[in-house]
Parts: sequence; structure tokens; C-alpha cells
Amino acid sequence: MKDLLRANIAGFKAYSSAREEYKDKSGRLIFLNANENPFDNGINRYPDPQQEELKTEVSKISQVAADSILLGNGSDEVLDLLFRAFCEPRQDNIITLPPTYGMYGVLAALNAIEEIKVLLQDDFQPDVIKILGSIDSKTKIIFLCSPNNPTGNSFSPAAVEQILLNFNGLVVIDEAYIDFSQDSGWLSRLEEFPNLVITRTLSKAYGMAGIRLGICYASPEIIGILNTIKMPYNVNELTQKKALENLRDRKKVLEQVSQINTERKNLIKELQGVSFIKKVYQSDANFILIRVDDAGKRYRQLLDEGIITRNRSEEPLCKNTLRITVGTPQENRYLLQTINKI
Ligand SMILES: *Cc1c(COP(=O)(O)O)cnc(C)c1O
Repeated sequence: MKDLLRANIAGFKAYSSAREEYKDKSGRLIFLNANENPFDNGINRYPDPQQEELKTEVSKISQVAADSILLGNGSDEVLDLLFRAFCEPRQDNIITLPPTYGMYGVLAALNAIEEIKVLLQDDFQPDVIKILGSIDSKTKIIFLCSPNNPTGNSFSPAAVEQILLNFNGLVVIDEAYIDFSQDSGWLSRLEEFPNLVITRTLSKAYGMAGIRLGICYASPEIIGILNTIKMPYNVNELTQKKALENLRDRKKVLEQVSQINTERKNLIKELQGVSFIKKVYQSDANFILIRVDDAGKRYRQLLDEGIITRNRSEEPLCKNTLRITVGTPQENRYLLQTINKI
């Protein structure tokens, strides 16, 4: 771990926030230490910097100990923290597997870290031999996104395991879409691999993109480091409250996920019958990647009918592709009607 950490982070002392010095268990303490407005309106106090109540709930749901969990302002913040803790600007590099989520590259550029791109194979699976061959002494993190955005497929567990076993740096598995998959993901194997970091989010299946809550699971050692460098109050009070409320009542989310998956199956079947759609890729996520005859033209036609899709044609291996999010049954019916009309 010492070799992985940035030098300035190794001895870093976290800011000691007012809220962290004293916790009020009795409810009787008078807080005159944080320069807050004292009149209670529900949000006049700084939020819990360690989000203990919310973390306890996340821990219960995921069956992962609280000291292996870090919460962030979206998983994008968590990814940025990983860069800032482990990647030395203008020196280190990371490996990504395009076509994939663009934030890994953006964060690399932002942190002045070289991004080594090792393309997925034609079946959108990782090319393990090439990945392992691209590692050098400056490689700190390999980013795997499974199910992958924008392709929708999950990576073969055997391939992921090979990478975890043969790389001494961190392997981040971004499981933003895991709730839509039949697969349960890598959480149950967290303790087996000290270099494994898993990120999840409430932005997709849980229906809370608006509150910005990302989750990072890793060894207590890694979580401890991220904790020292995160902003003290990175998850605001309203987010903590709302997340807790929704996580305690997950029945609705599970029903919605099941409905989205049924819709996805139906959409895939229907899209396969459309003449200008050359290929419909299978998906373990809440979106479908399709290859069409002319992505620019089809994108504009759909837009003219009020439907916004994502043109992914600029991504490697994705020429003439559109990524379509699974909508409500009504939205999906209109999408199919429109596609059949144009
Ligand atoms: C949407 C998405 C995220 C979202 O992150 P948040 O910041 O938590 O909203 C993360 N990773 C992937 C691959 C995504 O597609």
C-alpha cells in the first residue's frame, strides 16, 4: 500500500472538523463550536461527516462492514478521490478499457495522469493478455466497468479474476448497473482481494440521481486513506436523510428494477425486427446499445419526434451506434412506434 500511495498523502493529516470533535449522544449538549445559526430548521447544523446512520444501513444491505465503506457525492467523487490518493500527477498512469464510461479518462486528464487505453475485444470482453502486458511500474489503477457503459455487457468473472490476481495496483470495478444484472457482482469477494475497489451508486436502479450518492467498497486500509482526504462534509444532510428513507423502503425499487428488466427484454426483441437496426447488443443494464445503418441520421429522426438517445458512434468499436435508456412502458411503446415509423 505504501508503494501505491502518493508521497504527499502518506503523511497527510485530515482536517479536524468541528462536528467530528464531539458527537451528541445525549441530545443535551449545547453546540457553540461550529459557527452555525442556532435556530433549528432541520438543516442548520453541519451534517455527520462520517454519515454513520446511512452507512449502517448501507452496511446492512450490502453485508459489508462499515469500515469498508466510503460514501461520496456521487460515485464520480469516489473515483476522483482514488486518483488523488494514489496517482502522482505527471508521473503515474491508469488503464481503461474503451469503449467505456468517459469519466475515468476525464478524471485522469484533470489529475494529469496518463490514460493507457486497452480496447475491449470485438465481443466487448477485456483482452486480459494485452491489459497485463500494458502494465508498467507507474500503473496505479485499472478501471473495469461491469456491466459496462455503453456496451451493456458484463465482463467474464474469469477475466476479471485474472486481472485482480496479476496486478499489484488497484482494480476498480464500477458496478453502477449491477442491480439490473442477474449477476450479484464482486462484493462477496471483497476480502479475498486487498487490491479490489468496488463502486456503486444510487443514481441508476435506486432512482436517486438527483441526490448524488455514490458508494465505495474496499479494504479498511484503502477506505481509511480516502477518508483522510475527502472533504469533511462531502455528503449533505438532505442527501443523507433522503437516501436513508429510500433505502429503508426498497420494495418499490426492486419492483421497478424488475419492470425495467422486463421492458428491456421486450425492447430487445422488438428492436431486432427493425430493418435499419443492424445489431441489438444484449444488456445487463438499463440501456441497450444498437448498431444502425446511419447513427447521425437516426439520432436526428428520433430527436425530431421528441426522443433523445445517446449517439456513441465516436467511441472505438461503436461506429453507428446509439445507446437507448429503457424508459417507462409508455415511453418504450412510443419509442417503438416512432422507430417503426421512420
Ligand atoms: C451513471 C454512471 C455512474 C454514475 O455515477 P454517479 O456519480 O454516482 O451518478 C458511474 N459509473 C458509470 C459507469 C455510470 O454509467
